[in-house]
Order: sequence, then structure tokens, then C-alpha cells
Amino acid sequence: MWFLKYVMGLNPAAPQRYLILGTAYHALLEGKSPGEIARWGADFAEVLPEATELFKARTEKGPPLPKATAIEKELRISSIPMTSKPDREEPNRVVRDFKTTSVRSKDDDAFWSVNGEIIGEMLAADATTCIVDIVNKNDGKTTQLEVTQSPEKIRALEELVEDLIEELNVRLHRARKMGGLSAIFPKRMTSCVGKYGRCHYYDRCWSGGAARLLYKKSPNNGRWIPMLTPEGSAYGADMQVTLTPEDIKAIAMKAIAEGL
Ligand code: SF4
Repeated sequence: MWFLKYVMGLNPAAPQRYLILGTAYHALLEGKSPGEIARWGADFAEVLPEATELFKARTEKGPPLPKATAIEKELRISSIPMTSKPDREEPNRVVRDFKTTSVRSKDDDAFWSVNGEIIGEMLAADATTCIVDIVNKNDGKTTQLEVTQSPEKIRALEELVEDLIEELNVRLHRARKMGGLSAIFPKRMTSCVGKYGRCHYYDRCWSGGAARLLYKKSPNNGRWIPMLTPEGSAYGADMQVTLTPEDIKAIAMKAIAEGL
């Protein structure tokens, strides 16, 4: 998943419904109109009523949102080669991350407290606190968990990224020697289905036919375009990617040759 998403920038042609729902919910919170979201595609139009219900649950039942100082602003983290995009930056060095879920756990506090995405958002925005702002898809209840930054968490994240880079370099070295991409990026079967459902790339890895199609993000708005099908796309044929394992290998080797 990491290789397809972050190195090659390819996304499944048919994202999981919960991800489309999450994107529509975030868009409503960013102030996009339902009409605009519906025009992003049939998948978005389908989830829009549910996204609107969640949006109402959050804005009508949840605590008021302070005025944002920035929304969805991409920030570079200086200590590690990563960028991060908090949903909102708020006064007093606070960032906020909106989540939709149907699964709650007594360990949610502990889970989010050491979540790399959350720690990265605080680091990128130089924030001391992140509010993980959750709406439950089953009953519309909202929960706000407060995660605080610490030097230990920052160091742990930096070490994790350093470790990933080292691992990637070892794998790329093996790729140059062996040329066998599947051996270098094996399927991580323990991550195919998790607490929140199937991996974004599940159909790519485990299905056949059109479900294996991948696509690139639109250069126009950077959003997912779940429009690519074997028949074509409303966004232009140049955005369509129908990759065989051999194509992936060729692209990967080119990326490797160019030093990524
Ligand atoms: S479905 Fe499994 S093997 Fe495929 S990208 Fe996701 S985690 Fe990796």
C-alpha cells in the first residue's frame, strides 16, 4: 500500500465506501456545498445524505468549533522528510482532526495518543494539542479526545520514519540486484483487514477485472476521482491507469533508477 500510494501516487479506482463518506463529511466541514460534492461523482452523491446527517450531528450536537486559523493547509515537517495536512489549525497551538467511525473502544484515548498521523500533524503545525473530533456513524454521538504533544512522542515518530527510510533503502538495493518487485514489496496480509475494515487497496490485491484498476489524483483539485472504469473517465483518458504487474514493475524500476 505504501509503495502504491506514496511512491507511485496511484489509488484504487473504486475506493472503499467509508473513505468516500469520510471525504464527503470532511468537505462539508470545510464549507463545500452539497451540490458541489455531488458533482464529484455518483459515489459521492450516494453517500451525501449520510454525510449530511453526520455533519448535522457534529455541528448541532457537538461542542462549537472555534474559528480556524487554517484549513487543510499542507505543512512540511522540518525534522523528517514528511508533510502533514491537519484538518484545521486553531488558536493557541491546537490542531483538529475529524474522524468518522462505527467502532468505539475503551482504548481509543490510548490509541490516538500515540498515533503517528496525529503526532505528525502537531509537529507540522507546531501545535501542543490535537483534538481528535469523532462522530459515531451508528448513533451520531460526538466525542472529542485531547491528545498532547511530548518530546518522547516526537522522537518516537522521527525514529519510526528513519526506520522506514532505512528499510526502503534496503528494499531498493535488493530491487536493483534482483528486479523482483513482489519479493521486495510483499503483500502485508496482516494489514489487509483491520479495525476500520478493508485496506484501501484490498480489491487491487485480491480481486480481478476492473476492481484491480488504479488511478491518479486529479491535478486540478487533488481530490479522489472515483470515476475511472475500463470504459473511461469523465476527467479524461490520460487519467486512466490500467496497470498489469509488469507495468508496475517497469514504473517501479524507473522510479528506482531515478532515485525515487
Ligand atoms: S490489501 Fe493487504 S497486501 Fe494489499 S496493499 Fe492492502 S495491506 Fe497490502
